[in-house]
Amino acid sequence: MPVLVMKFGGTSVATTDRIRRAAKRVGVEVAKGYDVIVIVSAMSGETNKLVGLVGETSPLYDAREYDAVVSSGENVTAGLMALTLQEMDVPARSWQGWQVPVKTTSAHSAARIEDIPPDNITAKFAEGMRVAVVAGFQGISPEGRITTLGRGGSDTTAVAFAAAFDAERCDIYTDVDGVYTTDPRICDKARRLDRIAFEEMLELASLGAKVLQTRSVELAMRYNVKLRVLSSFEEQSDDAGTLVCAEEEIMESNVVNGIAYSRDEAKMTLISVADRPGIAAAIFGPLSEAGVNVDMIVQNISEEGRTDMTFSCPTDQVLRAEKALQEAKERGDINYHDLVADTNVAKVSAVGIGMRSQSGVAARMFRTLSDEGVNIKVIATSEIKISVLIDRKYMELAVQALHDAFELDKSA
Ligand code: ASP
Ligand code: MG
Repeated sequence: MPVLVMKFGGTSVATTDRIRRAAKRVGVEVAKGYDVIVIVSAMSGETNKLVGLVGETSPLYDAREYDAVVSSGENVTAGLMALTLQEMDVPARSWQGWQVPVKTTSAHSAARIEDIPPDNITAKFAEGMRVAVVAGFQGISPEGRITTLGRGGSDTTAVAFAAAFDAERCDIYTDVDGVYTTDPRICDKARRLDRIAFEEMLELASLGAKVLQTRSVELAMRYNVKLRVLSSFEEQSDDAGTLVCAEEEIMESNVVNGIAYSRDEAKMTLISVADRPGIAAAIFGPLSEAGVNVDMIVQNISEEGRTDMTFSCPTDQVLRAEKALQEAKERGDINYHDLVADTNVAKVSAVGIGMRSQSGVAARMFRTLSDEGVNIKVIATSEIKISVLIDRKYMELAVQALHDAFELDKSA
């Protein structure tokens, strides 16, 4: 029988009533003839609570025990979901990660799935079980310890199961009804997309659109898993939600399909550093060792052998960045006059695979911002994305203006 993967996020399993609602949807797919693998998150708020308990107990915790504790929220929902399905006369069984087994690396709290042997679950399907309810977010390391996949990791569990079982589709049920052209909370013209290409979704997810864990989109792209994002709170038709798929499966597409933003960016400038071979390595090496996620980088024209170097990173990494650079200066590896951090900036990005073949997108973006009187501080581009750093107070204005300029309220 064909296999379907259905993933329910924390808000969709927040109470026993909601679990019942989710189970009914599973029942509908079972009635259509699918064997279903249900991946569940912890009830909403549970994982945060568990993370808090670990911190209270041991500030510099052992990562193996952190995983043992925070993975437990999913065990509860997996059992409850299996019980609910059984109450509805659907043959169902729950599985924790290690029972499947979901084999992962031993990078605790950020493990990667390496293999999911399908045999155990497939054998149960052959015996008449119709639904395998699997606890998301967790696996087992080569050492036999419980691991977790990083926050939001149940999405990745779901996609990995879809790939391992060659599922027809992977449906991600959540509290929004799909992927939008931008955040509807700051732009009332935001429109739900029927389809979005993997590459675009990957950019949007890593730019801060929180609907899917970035890693899950990477995996879906690699294994060509058809991913659908849809609401568990609305009645669903077969074409509900947003399909994340290969670009060949999208007939018509706008040049720009999404405007993303990120509020918590900081701009850091090293003033007057010696411009010599190796200087970038001497600056960005220590930053990377300190775990600073540098995003945009600009090196100015140098005058008399000295230059300014500007980069952006998340606001909560500014202190770490300052410390790493200060230490490099004290060691004599780099030399600068001053280090200036500007934490009142935001990043706004336009994303679209159409940019590959259409020119003028950057010019249109810059013109739009200039018409609104918004000054651009840093620019970065990739093949399908243009990002700018601007004053945070103009962020919403910029998102709305760009949404209008690229006519994202109209479908292609
Ligand atoms: N429960 C985990 C979290 O809150 C994993 C997930 O829900 O995807 O991060
Ligand atoms: Mg999530």
